[in-house]
Amino acid sequence: MYKMTQKHAIRTLNKYPILTLPVPIYSIEEIIADSGFSLSCCEGINKPCIFRCELILPKFKTASDCRYALAHELGHIIIHGRDKTCVETIGKHEAAADAFALYFTMPPYLFEKDIKCLNEWDLAEKYGMPVEQVLNRAKLCDHYQYQ
Ligand SMILES: [Zn+2]
Repeated sequence: MYKMTQKHAIRTLNKYPILTLPVPIYSIEEIIADSGFSLSCCEGINKPCIFRCELILPKFKTASDCRYALAHELGHIIIHGRDKTCVETIGKHEAAADAFALYFTMPPYLFEKDIKCLNEWDLAEKYGMPVEQVLNRAKLCDHYQYQ
């Protein structure tokens, strides 16, 4: 179902090799900047928003929330491009950006290997993700668990 999204995430990881886990927040910011978007922070909003070539972020409570949100927005940029001025409105786009964020922060193959020997709490720590997102990522690799 998310084969194309998975490909986008793998291609992005290959283009910008990430050498440490969790994926550093500044690395995601660099890729976003490299894609032609400027980043700014606004305390008055409660969710990220893309307008033209600017990504405006709220203040995040934890590093994992921030990492996930940035990866999600990067998903919009990579998958949906810069021509959508209001990408946050379409449900299908949201699901694809969510899947991108899961694949990007918990890379294919690596995560599929780890899930065989680590529980969700260890995985959450290793990948710097909220446990809820680790469980969502696990759902994307069901077939691996039955091997
Ligand atoms: Zn979104």
